[in-house]
This record gives sequence, structure tokens and C-alpha cells, in this order.
Amino acid sequence: MADVEKKLKDTKTILVTGGTGLVGMAIKEMADLDKRPDENWVFVSSKDADLTSEAETSALFEKYKPTHVIHLAAMVGGLFRNLKYNLDFWRINIKINDNVLHNAYKHNVSKVVSCLSTCIFPDKTTYPIDETMIHNGPPHDSNFGYAFAKRMIDVQNKAYHSQHGCTFTSVIPTNVFGPYDNFNLQDGHVIPGLIHKIYRAKEDDTEFTIWGTGSPRRQFIYSKDLARLFIWVLREYDDISPIILSVGEEDEVSIKEVADMIIEACEFRGKVILDTSKSDGQFKKTASNAKLKNLQPDFKFTPIEQAIKETVTWFMENYETARK
Ligand code: NAP
Ligand code: GDP
Repeated sequence: MADVEKKLKDTKTILVTGGTGLVGMAIKEMADLDKRPDENWVFVSSKDADLTSEAETSALFEKYKPTHVIHLAAMVGGLFRNLKYNLDFWRINIKINDNVLHNAYKHNVSKVVSCLSTCIFPDKTTYPIDETMIHNGPPHDSNFGYAFAKRMIDVQNKAYHSQHGCTFTSVIPTNVFGPYDNFNLQDGHVIPGLIHKIYRAKEDDTEFTIWGTGSPRRQFIYSKDLARLFIWVLREYDDISPIILSVGEEDEVSIKEVADMIIEACEFRGKVILDTSKSDGQFKKTASNAKLKNLQPDFKFTPIEQAIKETVTWFMENYETARK
């Protein structure tokens, strides 16, 4: 009996908010592949609790009594969704983050890992950008609502640590893509948007349109690579200050280059158009992954061409049910 009680006492309950999204589903897959007997993973979505509601968030923490939290839930979108809804991005994300972090504090959660983004970096800056530069100047105007709400997680983490000694930290991924992404043409990010557009162009025998000039530059991370790093951060990284989870600066590509990789993966042979009347957004946000490389020197990222191919295959095979 004593053994059973000890085992229960030592078991970590890891609550993953936003557990049904792009990043959450990848963490689920990777945690299943790397099972530990002392870890009990719980993945939740807005159906379990609307985290903009204090009462529902509190009830969720009461129900699962997590010892650890990976906090992913957020209003998320690509450049064009951000341009339209800066106020909603600000209000919804501020509410979700405050409810999750304060309930984690109230329920004595040992560790929270929240998710920032390289989209929150200052627009006018020197490169590469590192973890110490998040608050050095305003973000790009296209997504200031999302960016300032996300920056406040870092402020809150610091405050929970200084006032209450909490281990609340955060990671900073670059542009993420993979299975279970949002393939909506207006709201999604560039890779799922372009994959869906090519799918349509092939179906309808029409041209394929890339928005903007194609020259902005991005570092992309495959959701499965990010998931492996997230699990490592949860288990091993105990610093309060954020850590950038990104491929190297040398792996940054232009939008046109990534579009060409998708064209190749989809074997699209039709006409390609650049619609330069559409916004380019921030030209680049080149991030340094030196801190990560120092702590995880042997980590291997999936080559982007392979990751894109896998994502295209997933979208084709799951077209009916994919978010679009
Ligand atoms: P996603 O696919 O859109 O998933 C969002 C998740 O949040 C879903 O599980 C959703 O639940 C949940 N959620 C949204 N509003 C909620 C609410 N009011 N209450 C409870 N749950 C709610 O997003 P993602 O791309 O996986 O993003 C995960 C995290 O990574 C976010 O914090 C995002 O800011 C960050 N991030 C993403 C990227 C990227 O390129 N995608 C880049 C950097 C950082 P339902 O399924 O029920 O709606
Ligand atoms: P960001 O990385 O946060 O700026 O967000 P996105 O993933 O939405 O990428 C935006 C960049 O991709 C901008 O330079 C857009 O002009 C370009 N882009 C080209 N075609 C598309 C598309 O179909 N959807 C989106 N979201 N962006 C596109």
C-alpha cells in the first residue's frame, strides 16, 4: 500500500493547454514515443475549459490538480489574421495567460512552460536577436496586439518568481508548421496557407498565388522538432528567462524559397504568381539559437524539405478533417 501511495505522490501530472492544436498534437505524439512511468499527460482544448473565463480555468485546475503545465492555448494566426484583429489578439491572450498563470500559482504548480514567439521581437533591431532583446523596442505594427500580450508572459513569469518563487518560464519558437496546423487560407500561417492554395490550384487547374514579394525571410521549425524540445525544456530547463527554440541563422529561408519547396513537394507544374499588393509583414526576425545549441549540442532538426513533404502528405491524407 505504501508503495502505491508513494508512486501516486511521485507521479507528475502535466496539463497541456491548447493540447489539440498544431504544437499540442505534436507534443502528444512525442510524449507517447518517450513515455515515462512517473508522467501523466493531460491534453485539453477549449471544449474542456474556455481559458478566457477565470471560473472555468479554476475548475480545470481543480479537476486535474496538475503539478506541471505546458501552456500553449492562445488565439493564433498568420500575418493576415493579425492585421485584422489586433484588439482581439491582445484581449483574448491577456485573459488566457493571466488565468492560466494565476491558477498555476494558486494550485502550487511546480513548473509552467509557456509559449512566446519570435513574432514578438522588436522590429527595428540588430541581428541576430537573442533572448535578452525581447523588450528592446516596439514589435512590428502588423501584430502588435499578439506581440505585446505574449511579451507580458515574460513580465508575469518574472513577477511570479520574484514575489512567490515560482518556476514559470517560457520558450520562443519561430514560425511552426506540421500536421494538425490551421490550413485556413485567410487565417493560417504561410506554409499551411501555401500548401492549401496549391491543393486548390491543382484541383481547379488554376494558377498558384503567393502573397507579397516573396523576399521576407523566416526561420521555420517543424512541429515534431519543437515538441521534442518542449519536452526537454519541461524536464530539464529550470531557468525563468526564456529560451529561443529555433533552427540556426544559416537555415533562414525566403518566402519564395519555401514556396518553391512546397511546389516541389506537391509536384505542382502550373503557373506561379506573386501578388505584391498583399503585405509582406516584418521583413525578418532572425533569431540566435546559441543558447539552445549550448544546452543541447547534439539536437538534430529535421531537414525542412523532408518536414514539408511530411506535412503535405498529412494534409492530402487528412483533407476532409484538416482545419481549413
Ligand atoms: P493552434 O493550432 O491554433 O492551437 C491553439 C490551441 O489553443 C487549440 O488547442 C485551441 O483549442 C486552444 N485554445 C484557443 N483558445 C482557447 C480558449 N479560449 N480556451 C482554451 N483553449 C483555447 O495553435 P498552435 O500553432 O499550436 O500554437 C500553440 C502555441 O504556440 C501558441 O501559444 C502560439 O502563440 C505559439 N506559437 C505558434 C507559432 C506558429 O507558427 N503556429 C509560432 C510561435 C509560437 P480548440 O481546438 O478547442 O480551439
Ligand atoms: P509571420 O511569419 O508571423 O509573418 O506570419 P506568416 O506565417 O503568416 O507569414 C507571413 C509571410 O508570408 C509574409 O511575408 C506574407 O506576405 C507571406 N505569404 C505569402 N503567401 C502567404 C499566404 O498564403 N498566407 C500567409 N499567411 N502568408 C503568406
